Parts: sequence; structure tokens; C-alpha cells
Amino acid sequence: MTSHLMPTYARQSVTFARGEGAWLWDSTGRRYLDAVAGIAVCSLGHAHPAVADALCAQSRTLLHTSNLYGVGLQAQLADRLAELSGMDNVFFSNSGAEANEAALKIARKYGHQKGIDEPVVLTMEKSFHGRTMGTLSATGNTKIKQGFAPLLAGFRHVAYNDVPAIEAELAADANIVAIMVEPVQGEGGVNIPAPDYLNRIRELCDRHDLLMILDEIQTGVGRTGRFLAYQHNGILPDVCTMAKALGNGVPIGACLARGKAADVLTAGNHGSTFGGNPLACAAALAVLNSVTADGLLDSVAAKGAQIHAALSQALAGNSHVAAIRHKGLMIGVELDRPCGELVGMALEQGVLINVTADNTIRLLPPFVIDDAQIAMLTGTLSALIQEFSR
Ligand SMILES: *Cc1c(COP(=O)(O)O)cnc(C)c1O
Repeated sequence: MTSHLMPTYARQSVTFARGEGAWLWDSTGRRYLDAVAGIAVCSLGHAHPAVADALCAQSRTLLHTSNLYGVGLQAQLADRLAELSGMDNVFFSNSGAEANEAALKIARKYGHQKGIDEPVVLTMEKSFHGRTMGTLSATGNTKIKQGFAPLLAGFRHVAYNDVPAIEAELAADANIVAIMVEPVQGEGGVNIPAPDYLNRIRELCDRHDLLMILDEIQTGVGRTGRFLAYQHNGILPDVCTMAKALGNGVPIGACLARGKAADVLTAGNHGSTFGGNPLACAAALAVLNSVTADGLLDSVAAKGAQIHAALSQALAGNSHVAAIRHKGLMIGVELDRPCGELVGMALEQGVLINVTADNTIRLLPPFVIDDAQIAMLTGTLSALIQEFSR
């Protein structure tokens, strides 16, 4: 066993050597069905040919210059993202947490411009926004904050999917400058809010001159069946962050801004050495081309519904299944007890699943999962849940 890695992850005892589509092979040659996709990262599947070709070609052309100079592919990617999102401009980072840091800096500076010296960002309980000190402070999960005090000031948390709770905070605290929220909470347990939740937050942000910040790091790039989850609601946020699936495995994040939020950060305010370098942008452009290809996002919605239906049917009458939820290919099966052991049990059966919030099985399969693979996934998982909850 390796001993030179910091033990920041409780790892499964498997090491993967190769992948193709929704399949992975471990170092002994055993095959697994991947319903995690690197936590919503490899949405196009492993070893996607268009992404591989873009990386090969770009690596032989130019990897990196610096944001001190023009970067053609970065400008092209920003244009494409603006077109797909309805947002005005983009700051590129290397991860989700960094994209959220940019969003938080926009919120704070926006507050200062309004004459608020101690700006506060309102975020949600059970939220997850990252592991840096700023994004950890924003996160609404006391367990992962334990041991890292002092956290940053300037955050308040309210219950998710509770508009009156937001209204009460706004009435109590005039320093609130932004509301930051995930359209579907991922790490928090695949929590899906009321259909008009984001619309109500949009109205409150307009009424109180606040920035609406959507953390679409997990939901973005088609995971819910639209390119961005807010497109189900017919609204636009002021700031939107993306990362995970944007590079299909190549690290890249983005903070998109619009209108009054788009002009807040100016030269010297923020930066990143690697952010938006030619290699990462080449990968992301290839991803966007493939994700927006005819019919793919419609198939995400259909496959999500198919998995939901199969699990609902197989698990009907199991009183230990508290709920089955999905939005596109973000699927959660909540049990009435902690169920982390299911991850290892499924692995033994050759299927990768995830458990989050202690009691919720989370499935984030690649969009390319086919009917036979869906049958294998839902069959294996429902049998395991039946066995586990007996
Ligand atoms: C994964 C995730 C993050 C953090 O992204 P990193 O790339 O791990 O820094 C932030 N917010 C949400 C909603 C996420 O799912």
C-alpha cells in the first residue's frame, strides 16, 4: 500500500487503468460499469475521441503562454459559453472551488461598490461550494468545516428550498449582497427544490438589488438535461459557476457573469496562472461541440427518466427506500439509514456508484450510457438495495 499520499480520501481498493465510454478496466483487467463518471466529470464517457483528438493536436501546437497575452482558444471558448448560457463574460479557473472564489469576490466587490463595508453572502444549508477557505465558509455543512476555524466572515445560511427563510434573512440583515445556491444540491443528497424556487430567488434578488449566484459546477454542461439547469426555469442568474464536466476530465472551471456583475472585476483584481490555458480550452471546446450535438441533451432527460422508472418499479414496496429523485442524469436514492457500505458491495458486482449525505445513493452516469448498461446498473443496484435493507 502506498504511504506517501495524505489520507484525505477514504479510497476504494481498486485502481483503474483504462476506460472507454461508460466502462472502466482495473489494473487486473476486470471491467466495471461507471455510474459515477469521476463525480459528474466524464459526462461524454471515458477516452472520448473528440476530446482526445483536441488534446493531442493542441499539445503539439501550444500548451500555455500566459494571461499576459491574448489566448485565442480562451476567447473562442468564452464566446461559445456566452452563446450557450446567455451570460456576458467569463473568467476561467482550474477547478470548481476557484470558479466560486471568483464569484465570491465579485459579490464582495459589488457590495463595496454599493457602500456596504461588510458584505454578506447568503448560502444554503446542506450546500457544497468547495474546499478552499472561502468556499468552505460558504458551504452549509458543519461536518466538513470542523477543525478549520476561523472560517471567513460574511456568510449566512438558510434552509434549502425555503423562500420565506430567505425573506426573513433579507429583512434581518441589510448587508446581504448576494444569494448563492445550487439548482440541485449534489453533495447534499441530490436535493431537488420546488420548480419555481430559482424564479422566486431571481425575484428577490431583483427586488433587493442582490446578485443571484448559481453554482452549476455539478449541474452544468447538460447533467440535468439542459445545458445549464437554470434554463429549465427561463431565468438568467447574475453569476454562474461551472467546472466538473466542462473539460470531460481536463481541469477547467469558469465563472460567468452578466449585466451589472460583468463589470465588477477589473484589471489587477483577480487572476490565475493556468486558468483558461490553450490545452484546457481546446478540451472544453471539443466537449461543448459534442454535448450540444443533436439530441444528446434530450437523451439525458430520457435516460434519467428511464433509470428512475426502473428503480421505482424494482424497489416498489421496499419501506426502507425513503425517496427516489432525479433531474436528468443526477439521480438519488435515499434510504432510511446510512448506506455507505453499498459502494463496496456494488464495486464487487462490477458497478461504480456513490453515496452522499450518508444515506443517499447518488448516480451520475455518463450521458453515453446505453440501454444494456442501464439495465445492468438498475438491476444490480436494486438487487443490492433489496439485500441491504432486508
Ligand atoms: C464539486 C463541486 C464544487 C467544487 O469543485 P472542485 O473542482 O472540487 O473544487 C463546488 N460546488 C459544487 C456544487 C460541486 O459539486
